[in-house]
Amino acid sequence: MTARIISGTETARQIREELIKEVANLKANHNIVPGLATVIVGDDPASQTYVGAKIKACQALGIYSANYPLPAGTSEEELLKLIADLNTDPAINGILVQVPLPDHIDENRILLAISPDKDVDGFHPVSVGRMVIGQPGFLPCTPHGIQELLIRGGVETSGAEVVIVGRSNIVGKPVANILLQKAPGANATVTVCHSATRDIAAHTRRADILIAAIGKPKFITADMVKPGAAVIDVGTNEIGRTPEGKRILSGDVDFDNVKEVAGVITPVPGGVGPMTIVMLMANTVRAAKLAHELI
Ligand code: NAP
Repeated sequence: MTARIISGTETARQIREELIKEVANLKANHNIVPGLATVIVGDDPASQTYVGAKIKACQALGIYSANYPLPAGTSEEELLKLIADLNTDPAINGILVQVPLPDHIDENRILLAISPDKDVDGFHPVSVGRMVIGQPGFLPCTPHGIQELLIRGGVETSGAEVVIVGRSNIVGKPVANILLQKAPGANATVTVCHSATRDIAAHTRRADILIAAIGKPKFITADMVKPGAAVIDVGTNEIGRTPEGKRILSGDVDFDNVKEVAGVITPVPGGVGPMTIVMLMANTVRAAKLAHELI
């Protein structure tokens, strides 16, 4: 039987509708408008597209968005000064500095300068620490989106064997920590594979939930998947362009063949991808509520 598809497009739409109501309620009952500052240094076209999408998402939800496009020659000190100002600006609840930054700016120093209370990307070491020890904080958007896809897609995580292929700081490691928590929508037994793992297929074939975050098109083949497993494909690999110049994407999973073995599967595009921005919006709304002691 062909796998049931969990649509990230549809799940993100549901969450957006919930957030629209929440933002309207914050305004009507508390006169609060959540605010997100986006900072971009230089004119990298991909970064501009990402930031543009985030600004559009804010507008669609009624979140205030303050955009800071800075020239490529901006110094580290100038950027630190802007972040210090945003840290104390009451209209701003979340600060997002788009990476990559130009070579003359130390990304780590910038990240550390963002107040953990406004770290809606969830990458500050304080946020990472809170995630690992299960304290409330901001979860990074893509891994949090994966958890939401599992919960809303009706996939039981408690007691499940989860195998993650990929151990990056932005996907593999955080999703492992999130699903390991003793909490609803988590409580899994987690294995993380990487490039030094011996016999990856021996691990993936045990997985009730297989999460592929590798960056290699069609790396996960049907013979690596346990029948009935839930397969979450994080991979977003450009494998070409249409004559009109649109990107052609492939996931890390050989979708056409794996869907014949898996029980549920996420597509690429339209799976994990649409979840990232909506979880950023959710973090921004949460930051506003925390700032006003509503949670
Ligand atoms: P990354 O930083 O390049 O990490 C890739 C991971 O895969 C590394 O841990 C690497 O192992 C492992 N790996 C690579 N080749 C392997 C192999 N042959 N066997 C076993 N493990 C291997 O990538 P990332 O940033 O996590 O992104 C992964 C994919 O997800 C990319 O396609 C990216 O575009 C996509 N992505 C999508 C979203 C989204 O949809 N919103 C967000 C983020 C990323 P080592 O650590 O040993 O090198």
